[in-house]
Amino acid sequence: MHEETKCVQSGYNPKNGEPRVLPIFQSTTYVYDSPEEMAELFDLKREGFFYTRLANPTVDALEKKIADLDGGVAGVGCASGMAATLLTACTLCRAGDNIISTSTVYGGTFNLFGTTLPKLGIECRFVSPRATKEELEAQIDDKTRFLFCETIANCAMYVADFSVYGEVCKKHGLLLVVDNTLATPMICRPLEYGANIVVYSTTKYLDGHATSVGGMIIDGGNFEFYGNKRYPDFNEPDESYHGLCYGKDFGKAGFATKARAQYMRDFGAQMAPLNAYLTFLGIETLHLRMPRHSENALRLAEMLAENDNVEWVKYGGLKTDENYPYVQKYFDKGMASGMVTFGIKGGREGAIRFQKALKLFRIVTHIADSKSCVLHPASSTHRQLSDADLIACGISDNLIRVSVGIENAEDILADIENALAEAKKGN
Ligand SMILES: *Cc1c(COP(=O)(O)O)cnc(C)c1O
Repeated sequence: MHEETKCVQSGYNPKNGEPRVLPIFQSTTYVYDSPEEMAELFDLKREGFFYTRLANPTVDALEKKIADLDGGVAGVGCASGMAATLLTACTLCRAGDNIISTSTVYGGTFNLFGTTLPKLGIECRFVSPRATKEELEAQIDDKTRFLFCETIANCAMYVADFSVYGEVCKKHGLLLVVDNTLATPMICRPLEYGANIVVYSTTKYLDGHATSVGGMIIDGGNFEFYGNKRYPDFNEPDESYHGLCYGKDFGKAGFATKARAQYMRDFGAQMAPLNAYLTFLGIETLHLRMPRHSENALRLAEMLAENDNVEWVKYGGLKTDENYPYVQKYFDKGMASGMVTFGIKGGREGAIRFQKALKLFRIVTHIADSKSCVLHPASSTHRQLSDADLIACGISDNLIRVSVGIENAEDILADIENALAEAKKGN
């Protein structure tokens, strides 16, 4: 099936007489007739639901839909995008291990990798998003457990060159984990370019309507853990599960099984059924929304590039943008998603005047829903970062992040043009 059809149909296929629409299974638990059946579930010897922290039918349907869209073998629904990345890191690392990440990752991920994981004994080595193979290899040692990047960096806008990361990871038997939040599977499927695990903040385009915070881990099922010395936790028995071996006993879905059975069990960062339902419904129109977000964003980026109150604009869909070649190489139909950043003249003050003059665009700590919005990261999401960290993240004090919605393009352009003109008056 095509991606459009998967958006609408995958994940839930009701049988005779069952509800047409995916039900919200708002239940913590599930009944069984015999203690033996329950015991088999606990031993992971049979599939089924027993407690919603570990699995829930509504969340399960969403996991299947997104796994199908990405071409993966299993999904693990999480409470948020941050939970998805945390669980992924914990599934792969112990204290003493290290990871490599591009320095331009989302601010929350940068904090997790740079500050919080080190407190658990996991070191992160940050690299430039344009690091060469040699530069990446120089960071790898026997304790390195994965390489992490974002398909489109939020909000530095770098588009990943998967061929570089993919080749290095393959050569070193190392997992490639990709945050595909801003591209979504409608624009890019990182598993096709060498990724092994894909993570999402489903809060963004997958939900698409700003209703639900959620996250997803997709297991690509394309990595051989068994026999790979880098991953002792996948090769040695799990004593908290009667000696099961994740690299051997669960076919291609060993990673997703371990993430769920050990870390979802212990961290309890599961997605709520209602959020899974709303996200599931949102994805039905993902294939209509992403082209529209991309078209509107391209028109806005073109306008900004011509506006004399704008210092610079970054959008991978612009022919003049340094990321354009990667958009052509990895993204479907030249779509480059709905986020645009630009530097306004007049610095921090100019950015503030601009935001105050907007009418259609609202100021929100969010991106990627149907409604257009803006944010000034230096005074909001990224205000905890030092000036040096801001530069490492690719963020300047006059950077405006625009999330272009699916309204009429003329209305979008008119609002931004008007606010730019108002902001200019103060220069
Ligand atoms: C928002 C976001 C996250 C974090 O997701 P939450 O659902 O807010 O926890 C992670 N990565 C990217 C690229 C994001 O945009």
